[in-house]
Amino acid sequence: MSALDDVRAAFLDAHGHAPDGVFSAPGRVNLIGEHTDHNEGHVLPFAIDRRTWVAAGRRPDGTVTVRSSDPGTGPATAAVGTLREATGWAAYPLGTVWALEQAGLEPSGWDLVVHGEVPLGAGLSSSAALESAVALAVAELGGADLDRFALAAAGRRAENEVVGAPVGIMDQAASLLCREGSALLLDCRSMATEDVALGLEEAGLGILVVDSRVRHDLADGGYADRRAACVAAAAALGVPALRDADLAGVEGLADEVLRRRARHVVTEEARVHEVVTLLRAGKAPDVGPVLAASHASLRDDFAVSVPEVDALVTAAEGAGALGARIVGGGFGGSVLALVPRAALEDVAAACRAAARGPEPTVREVAPAPGARRDV
Ligand code: ADP
Ligand code: MG
Repeated sequence: MSALDDVRAAFLDAHGHAPDGVFSAPGRVNLIGEHTDHNEGHVLPFAIDRRTWVAAGRRPDGTVTVRSSDPGTGPATAAVGTLREATGWAAYPLGTVWALEQAGLEPSGWDLVVHGEVPLGAGLSSSAALESAVALAVAELGGADLDRFALAAAGRRAENEVVGAPVGIMDQAASLLCREGSALLLDCRSMATEDVALGLEEAGLGILVVDSRVRHDLADGGYADRRAACVAAAAALGVPALRDADLAGVEGLADEVLRRRARHVVTEEARVHEVVTLLRAGKAPDVGPVLAASHASLRDDFAVSVPEVDALVTAAEGAGALGARIVGGGFGGSVLALVPRAALEDVAAACRAAARGPEPTVREVAPAPGARRDV
């Protein structure tokens, strides 16, 4: 059975009637632009071929129910008006319904049944896939006049204010706005977006995401520290955000740590534009060295890599990847590698063999369409 059939059957089973609609939204991976988002720069994520499905139906009694096929979750029920107090996994879907109500959706009861194929906590944003599928479902069935960017903003608000995670809007924007085969160039200041065709198939390339399954304890504190360093560097340079800084100015910073942190952001912002230029010129293989440079910058200047992750990057490149880099906030997490299709298996095997801790999980991801109504 397909995921679509599964989620419809699960809805029928739980509620005794067919859903009013079935919607799905993808996870994402960010090709380049790491730690540029909180400096008001650009990111270049694409939606991947793992999705989260939501079968949805309106309820007349002012109750919202959620259930998921994920074995780590149980069903939850809340009265309209109390959605903001949701906890656990239910905070993602119920928080999204709450945020949509804040944006103008008429409050109503709902039954939401979730089936996700985006691995949880693997750097592929299962959280944004869930929020985005719920947002599209409830907005469309509820007749809310909200564009896709407003839906992304509602997902982000749910995650910030109900789940309590200080995330930006990249993941939800990618899940809701990406088109198949393209990445989304997102300006995190103006929120302007552009599609950038990836051309991976034509170039005979694939993308692997290697989850190190390592996460160092200092991840949360380290992330907050790097954000604060960026704010301090921008202040020292007299610019609103590091997006506005140039390399010459950064090299003149007296404090060595701030200089390194700012240099990563300024060079990473330039790398995003370099990758866009290469992709638009049909030169996808040349993106590899830019990914390698991004990793070196994240490791040496931004200091967010760890030996376990460096070992995966080295192994991937040694086995034929054109370039690889750490993705996500840092201090563990996943590696993205750009790989000629003929070398995919060698690169995957080399990563498994190089692991210094738990065996990493290797997944190939392909660019896929953004959120949509399936039924
Ligand atoms: P990720 O990098 O995958 O987004 P997060 O920690 O941000 O990791 O989000 C993962 C959380 O989102 C899970 O712990 C769970 O609470 C929720 N979640 C995501 N997908 C599902 C799903 N299909 N069913 C239930 N909960 C889900
Ligand atoms: Mg997440």
